[in-house]
Amino acid sequence: MANFIVKNMLEHLKEACGVFGALDFEHRPVFPYVYWGLRGQNHRGHQSHGFLTFDGRFHAHRGLDLVPKIKREAIQKWVRKLPGHVGLGHVRYTTSGGTDEQSLVKSAAPILERAGKTKIAISFNGNIVNGPKITREIKGKFPSFQYNFDAQLISRKLLLKLRKEGDLASSVRSCMKEIEGAFSVAGITQKGELFAFKDPYGIRPLCCGYSEDRKTCAVSSETVGLDINGLEFDFEINPGELVTASEDGFVREQLVRCEKRALCAFEFAYFARPDSMLGDKFVYEVREEFGRNLGREYPETTEDVDIIISMPETGNDAAFGLHELTGKRWERASRRHRYVTERAFILLPEERYTTIDRKINIIDHKMVGKNVAVVDDSIVRGDTTKVVVKKLRKMGAKKVYLFITFPRIIGPCFYGVDMATYGELIGSRYEAEEIAKIVGADAVKYQSVDGLVKATGLSRNELCLGCITEKYPTPMAQKLADEMKERFEKGYKETGRIYEVATH
Ligand code: SF4
Repeated sequence: MANFIVKNMLEHLKEACGVFGALDFEHRPVFPYVYWGLRGQNHRGHQSHGFLTFDGRFHAHRGLDLVPKIKREAIQKWVRKLPGHVGLGHVRYTTSGGTDEQSLVKSAAPILERAGKTKIAISFNGNIVNGPKITREIKGKFPSFQYNFDAQLISRKLLLKLRKEGDLASSVRSCMKEIEGAFSVAGITQKGELFAFKDPYGIRPLCCGYSEDRKTCAVSSETVGLDINGLEFDFEINPGELVTASEDGFVREQLVRCEKRALCAFEFAYFARPDSMLGDKFVYEVREEFGRNLGREYPETTEDVDIIISMPETGNDAAFGLHELTGKRWERASRRHRYVTERAFILLPEERYTTIDRKINIIDHKMVGKNVAVVDDSIVRGDTTKVVVKKLRKMGAKKVYLFITFPRIIGPCFYGVDMATYGELIGSRYEAEEIAKIVGADAVKYQSVDGLVKATGLSRNELCLGCITEKYPTPMAQKLADEMKERFEKGYKETGRIYEVATH
């Protein structure tokens, strides 16, 4: 039975970051809330984690790896070492700064920055597009400033204004006006106030919630961070909005208004947990609709399908939708090895392809003689898709159709997703039919952009669709994408995004 199939972690996209913040008005310790808030959101960042609390003074602990791997004794120790009724947490996958172990430790968040007597702590999710410009500006005021990662740019920018004006709202407003990119931020001031804000396009999610007695309030990248703590979801922070926690509820200030909103569409297909809410819908409901859309958009192909399988876990809900619409059997023959959480670091380079085998198991005899529809969230580079198709054929599948919920990725992301260049994206170079030939599938069927938009319940004007339409919501990202594309088409070798190759 046990032939294996694998989803290669080198191929698959990594999440950018997850943030969590809590404040207890009865002055009870918030560390447990922060700990569970991160555990519920560890899918957003596997490389490092961090906790920071405030009880009149700031206390912090940061480490590498997943939160569930923290030993019980360590947690018990931290409960004592991280006292305070206000706290922040952060899980990170790096999309800015170095990726060696030393850099990862150094860049683990939350970060605490100080300038003179002014201090501020922040957790940040996103990616800054005009980093070099902001770095130069900061260096002008803090000559010894050394850029390591994007969160520093936000915290330093806040410090600059706070020192000058002493007012949080005007400091945040200047961040929103001068920094281009995605930033969803939770923070603590030196007075112990919990605050949170989003960039004017609202590219990454961030929501607020309360305990039933309203004595504890929290901010979280995803609603699951509230759920796991038994907190009630209150509202999603608006793009360009600053919220501060008070005993009377969150105080909301719309600091910057932007005509366009741009929540990352990829959150729906891949990043966010299916049981989180985005917009007015649960993500799993949207993914089910993605699956139904694939059935509606490709009736002739689905007619030829005998069984549907899904790549766990992001393909599962869409596979259910496809099954529901077409009546074709959803064979749940692909399962994740539950306790395999490691990334590929223990593997030799030549084992690259077999890393999928260590994550996902597919029951081979179910495939024999069948026309198989494989439902997955995306194709980025195509390497492992090729391996998956090859293995399914070896298992005896007659035909392999790939149904992909996220439309063809044709451009890089500038807002915190690990897709840096045109060259690495198979979808930027080839059409679906060519991709099918390259990966050895009978067909590759992508959900249409219109179908995706409709399923989210939002409009085109409320979503970022940059990587699938090459129309980016922010001006500098658009300019960089156009320049990168021109260079790519002229055959220049890409070594990263233009602004990352440029020195900070
Ligand atoms: S470019 Fe793509 S991945 Fe990046 S924020 Fe926009 S939709 Fe999301």
